[in-house]
Amino acid sequence: MPSHFTLRMQFGPHQDAEEVARQLLKLVRTAPVDEVMVFFFAEDLNNGHETLDEIKEWIERTRPWRKALADAGVTLSLNQWHTMLHGDRFRTLKPDQKWQPMVDPFGKAASACVCPLDPGWRMYYEETMRLYAKEGFRVIWIDDDIRFHNHLPLTWGGCFCPLHVSEFNQRAAAKGDAAGAKATREEIVAKCLAPGEPHPWRAMWLDMWQETHLEMIARWRDIAEAGGSKLGLMSSNPDVHAAEGRRWEDWWTAFGAKMGSGPFCLKDPQGARADDARRKTDLTPSSSAMHRPHFWGYNDALGSALPGYIAMLDQNRRVQTPGMESGPEIECHPYGRWNKSFRQTGAQMALAHILGSSNLNISLYDFMGNWPDDEPERADFLRQWRPALDWLADQFPMTLKAVGVGLPWSEDMGRKVRTDGSGQWGSLTCKTRGWANWLGSAGHAFAMAAQPAVNAIGGSVAWAFSDAELREWLAKGMLLDGVAASVLVERGLGELIGMKTGRFITQKDRLYSIEHCLDAAFSLRVGAQMGANWPEHIQRMYQGDLLSGARVVSDLRGPKQNVVGHGLTLFENGLGGCVAIVPWDAQSDLAMNIQRAAQLTKTLAWLSRGVSLGSASGAPWLVPQFLTDGRAWRGVVWNASPDAVGQFTITPPADTPPIRTATHIDARGHMRSATVSGDTVVVNEPMGQWEMVVV
Ligand SMILES: [Zn+2]
Repeated sequence: MPSHFTLRMQFGPHQDAEEVARQLLKLVRTAPVDEVMVFFFAEDLNNGHETLDEIKEWIERTRPWRKALADAGVTLSLNQWHTMLHGDRFRTLKPDQKWQPMVDPFGKAASACVCPLDPGWRMYYEETMRLYAKEGFRVIWIDDDIRFHNHLPLTWGGCFCPLHVSEFNQRAAAKGDAAGAKATREEIVAKCLAPGEPHPWRAMWLDMWQETHLEMIARWRDIAEAGGSKLGLMSSNPDVHAAEGRRWEDWWTAFGAKMGSGPFCLKDPQGARADDARRKTDLTPSSSAMHRPHFWGYNDALGSALPGYIAMLDQNRRVQTPGMESGPEIECHPYGRWNKSFRQTGAQMALAHILGSSNLNISLYDFMGNWPDDEPERADFLRQWRPALDWLADQFPMTLKAVGVGLPWSEDMGRKVRTDGSGQWGSLTCKTRGWANWLGSAGHAFAMAAQPAVNAIGGSVAWAFSDAELREWLAKGMLLDGVAASVLVERGLGELIGMKTGRFITQKDRLYSIEHCLDAAFSLRVGAQMGANWPEHIQRMYQGDLLSGARVVSDLRGPKQNVVGHGLTLFENGLGGCVAIVPWDAQSDLAMNIQRAAQLTKTLAWLSRGVSLGSASGAPWLVPQFLTDGRAWRGVVWNASPDAVGQFTITPPADTPPIRTATHIDARGHMRSATVSGDTVVVNEPMGQWEMVVV
């Protein structure tokens, strides 16, 4: 199954359609392009909610070059860049757009972002869909501004406007909730964000947001499908969607998925260009939905971002239903190679296929309509990488799933989390990828779902799970951070983690500055020390009243080496499970070093009772991935460090067959064999940053 390159491009009505056609035909003859995702009204060319006349002008003026592309065998899809609008950015509603603006939790109104309940805006938007649906696009994409969060300059987002409050009041009245029937925005927000057991209004509010959105989307889908187009969804950070109460399966249903349907049809094309039939694919719409997940930064990032990127795409893959078309967004904004290098763009495309993608939605061209000719190196880049990406797409079918240490999370976490009482809607967001950073950077594979041997929970996401789920995981191997441990103690599960009670301390309470290792079985060596002085993760430390049987294998010390508390604790509980607790906050910024990496590595070995979960070692920032469908196995080791690597060791998950071959893919997309000797891989050219070895 080859890759599928979709280029995200925008050319406005001010441009000469003949020249656009000439440029694009030259591009698609030079570069491997399967599809062009045509953007309308995106970014620099957005002027708020464009009028229907403006939309008609864009459609007319772009039709000649769209037809030229279609005649050349290029598939076309459409991304109209706004629904409610991403953010104001000093745009305003037009004089005849008498719509309810979006309102944030504090009552501030936007100048251009609208309330999705406004009936006038809804009529307008359905009309835009009717216009677009006549144009024969394979997919009409709904941009990820179809979300409640992130609509600057609003605080957190919206919408908490009078229309939404009224809708909530009516729903409450229908349930016989007299207080809810007359509640104000301020009262609703306060109840939704109150500390302690979540107030029932929180679920009611989130249900209202979701249900009113999905009714609207289903109407758009009907319009799109009546014209022969599918409706696709772009999405944002899954952690923040959970603070909107998003339940993904319902969304896929609204977008046209029939649950339990077979995989989308990816078939060999009829009439593909004869010179490249192998590469050309035809993504035929089926009864499944289409998803364009976001998972990587828009700019060049430090290598330390890689585990989080792996985790976010894995999260997105986990909320999809079987057989979905998944085409991750390969973004670059603001535009060009000064913003994101080819090296990192290639790595992003490779990771998309490693975690299973049907196509790649690639931004190499800006949204102002500058000519592809301005920088012909982009076409060369696409051509250079295509063979490796076709190979990766073959090697990593979408049926494979990541394995390793389980990092469970839940789409319902925003509904279940106990807030910090800050009164901010953001307090419903649980960070979920912290342990991915700590474990991935120390060379350990992870998966963004519960796993059978060892699971790790960090932070307030511990509220998201049932007692039964937690007990099941606590009967195996469980790694907790201080915050998660405090939640389990509060939930009455202390006897299963070795803590009767506990409390947080800060350096103001007891001046700690060092974590000191006491046990060689759980450290690099006895006496090894790690800084606990000012990094973010040690701002507060959870200190338990330890139960009999709990072991302290590191302690907290002050600057004069005086012991002021415990560090890592271990406990074997009555369920037969092993629990390790670090006192710090795993959802905070990473502070990795050889001592911490050794501590985590040995602790994981104890938690798994010596069974390998998959790891790599030999240099900092070797980030491994292992995937399986229960029969076939695949592994990848990334170098996320700026220092090149010559060789490393892979410890594959238990039950995997011996590693026989290894393929190094470099930053230019060149593939070359690496030498395998037992579990050692030697690359024949130095493995640079953002490069990988596939086994
Ligand atoms: Zn509203």
